[in-house]
Amino acid sequence: MSEVSVNRLVEFVKHHYGTNEFIPLHAPVFKGSEQTYVASTIDSTFVSSVGEFVNRFERDMATYTGTEAGVATVNGTAALHVSLRLAGVSEGDLVITQALTFVATCNAIHYCGAEPLFIDVDEATLGLSPYALETWLENHASKNTSGECVELETGRNISACMPVHTFGHPADLEGLVRVCEKWSIPLVEDAAESLGSFYKGRHTGSFGKLAAVSFNGNKIITTGGGGMILCDEDTGRRAKHLTTTAKKPHPYEYVHDEVGYNYRLPNINAALGVAQLEQLPDFLVEKRALAEEYRQLLKDTEFHFVDEPDGCRSNFWLNAVLCPDQSSRNQLLELTNANDVMTRPVWQLMCDLPMYARCTQGDLRTSRSIAERLVNLPSSVKQVQK
Ligand SMILES: *Cc1c(COP(=O)(O)O)cnc(C)c1O
Repeated sequence: MSEVSVNRLVEFVKHHYGTNEFIPLHAPVFKGSEQTYVASTIDSTFVSSVGEFVNRFERDMATYTGTEAGVATVNGTAALHVSLRLAGVSEGDLVITQALTFVATCNAIHYCGAEPLFIDVDEATLGLSPYALETWLENHASKNTSGECVELETGRNISACMPVHTFGHPADLEGLVRVCEKWSIPLVEDAAESLGSFYKGRHTGSFGKLAAVSFNGNKIITTGGGGMILCDEDTGRRAKHLTTTAKKPHPYEYVHDEVGYNYRLPNINAALGVAQLEQLPDFLVEKRALAEEYRQLLKDTEFHFVDEPDGCRSNFWLNAVLCPDQSSRNQLLELTNANDVMTRPVWQLMCDLPMYARCTQGDLRTSRSIAERLVNLPSSVKQVQK
């Protein structure tokens, strides 16, 4: 029975974090210059919509991810929303994505007046399957006279494809880039969970026309709440304009030339972000070491450790296992949570939520199988010893 391996897992986690108290799934850690940088924004009074830390955070993120531009936003959902808008998504369109994701992915699509179209994921990556994508397109889509991809049955534009780098594991980007190029569908990466994850040496989020990162409190680094759009320089200028109420520069007049958003990241949050980003390399070392321990511990058990895909370096934001079946998953969840070790199942599939239940979907058998069997394990970086 699996109880033996679950008990070993509970013991391991308690030993790793050196406590018998409750162990969360993912807690933030502040052991760098957070206090100093945040205090300096307070001292300068520049806590809000202007300030040097926003610029610095944007530059540092672009440098780290190897992209031309970073535009900081108030959260990852806002970054996704504006990314989709700038990719050309508008009212009545379809946006291809996976049903195995956090609800924000679909909400951002909905904010554009578009609808998600659900395609299956690959078990090896937990991300959108290029093969499932291509198969669906071949059977249900064509290119219109302007060269845009449309759904055959309804004539609706398929104006973006948004894979998710689930739990920090890169999706099959080469495959997705190939299919999207062939069908003239702009690629927008939901890189909310994958800061620090690389696909064949290139950072996730640098493959699509745009990408969105999140700095929510549970992500690998946090700004309290925050996000960032990654893109090329021209698109970055557009993104900055749209996220800052579309205000034109002027010495004193308030000139706004389109409907913009107040999606700007406050300087006080950016200060936290700069300090956190400085520690990302150390966080990654620690998280990869923990992943290695889980890998060894689970090797000869019925729990299959979700490892980084071939050719990838994952950030192991949230470690995960696939159980043999749903009842074994439930048993794992019961035993760990009863012992103060927080574990969680994956999100309910988006196509099963009431607001997205009527959206078009392909064959989602792999998504369903993963949704029944996946469990996330505690993955925080260790707190500073006080
Ligand atoms: C966290 C997350 C988001 C949204 O980010 P917020 O900063 O919470 O708005 C979007 N997509 C995925 C996959 C996420 O995990």
